[in-house]
Amino acid sequence: MTLGFTEDHDQFRRSLKTFVEREVTPNVLEWEREGQVPRSFFKKLGDLGFLGIRLGEEYGGSGLDFWYTTVMVQELMQCGSVGVPVAAMAHAEFATRIIERAGSDELKKEFLGPAVAGDIIGALGVTEPGAGSDVAAIRTKAVRDGDDYIINGSKTFITNGTIADFITTAVRTGGAGHGGMSLIVVPADTKGLTRKRLQKIGTHSSDTAELFYEDCRVPARYLLGPENGGFKPLMQGFEGERLVLSVIACAQMRLMFEAARQHGHDRKIFGQSVLDFQVWQHRLADVITNIEAAEALMYRGIDLYVRGEPCNAEISMSKLFATETALTVARECAQIHGGMSHMEECGMARLYRDSLAFTIGAGTSEVLRTIIAGDMGLSRRRGAS
Ligand SMILES: Cc1cc2nc3c(=O)[nH]c(=O)nc-3n(C[C@H](O)[C@H](O)[C@H](O)COP(=O)(O)OP(=O)(O)OC[C@H]3O[C@@H](n4cnc5c(N)ncnc54)[C@H](O)[C@@H]3O)c2cc1C
Repeated sequence: MTLGFTEDHDQFRRSLKTFVEREVTPNVLEWEREGQVPRSFFKKLGDLGFLGIRLGEEYGGSGLDFWYTTVMVQELMQCGSVGVPVAAMAHAEFATRIIERAGSDELKKEFLGPAVAGDIIGALGVTEPGAGSDVAAIRTKAVRDGDDYIINGSKTFITNGTIADFITTAVRTGGAGHGGMSLIVVPADTKGLTRKRLQKIGTHSSDTAELFYEDCRVPARYLLGPENGGFKPLMQGFEGERLVLSVIACAQMRLMFEAARQHGHDRKIFGQSVLDFQVWQHRLADVITNIEAAEALMYRGIDLYVRGEPCNAEISMSKLFATETALTVARECAQIHGGMSHMEECGMARLYRDSLAFTIGAGTSEVLRTIIAGDMGLSRRRGAS
């Protein structure tokens, strides 16, 4: 397979590299302490045209392909803080693209222009305390009242939850199951919406929140698509989301490998470098072999996705393998650092803990295995999402 990067992608990569070196990496420690990236981060990304890569030009976007998103994620990861690409993608890939897919022209004009400019920040609110993997079990209810919907319920683990200006929210408007689900855009200043930041093990620069909707009155025109038609556009977004997480995991593994290689060379023990012990040469040889395998699966998934081929199973395999492998790679690369792996001053500590979230978000490893099994005819039931 020939990778889909062209000279234009390389040019795009160079501008992102400069942006990350100047505007992101020097600030990462502060953002990790603050528990969020600042609004100015989104504004600067917007000013440079990085937030509308895949959105249509009529909404200020560039209408480009996922290879550009890949470049963006890979370069943002160079700051060494996974929360940074996660925050950017929760906005640009998860919360806004679904509006483009399912929203009315009026809604797209109202939200997408400012979102692409980085003037407003988005979040995607699906998960609830009682409904994670089983998306169709959500209970947050939206009831029609004249020209409005009144929303009651709660969401949890929502990326960008406290900093978002709008939350693309999954709600129940009909009966049980996926046929009774809708999507509605909820402005964050809606009366009755309260938010609480959650404290996490890792991805500290990404804000994650619990949201409470109490009699939130939202105009009915903020509904995305037909009432009870929310499940399909939500599922369509999963392929891109899972690819994004594959790209983050692969880029993160490369960083961990380079840190391990550097430390292995530099650290002298028993009169030699740690990497002079053959056991560490072999362990890191396994690490890089696994990274190459994860990248090969990832690039295959991206290639199929960009060409519009069926790729649900391939993308699931890519996310499953990359995120599970990242756990092993993190352990190996931390181990070669010895005690330094536990010190905040060592970038490895952050990468280590940041590797933990990805086997869960956007489809747990178990859910992905169910999809793959369904696609391969291993089970009679087709894959859940
Ligand atoms: C850092 C972070 C950021 C997140 N950001 C967002 C966000 O922006 N928006 C949003 O809506 N959600 C977000 N989530 C939530 C995430 O999508 C859910 O955590 C995920 O879908 C799993 O749901 P759950 O936590 O309720 O686990 P559960 O669904 O309760 O799963 C518990 C365990 O059961 C397993 N399991 C579930 N179903 C099956 C099955 N069929 N067979 C076998 N095992 C099964 C799971 O794999 C898991 O191991 C985020 C989560 C994290 C950790």
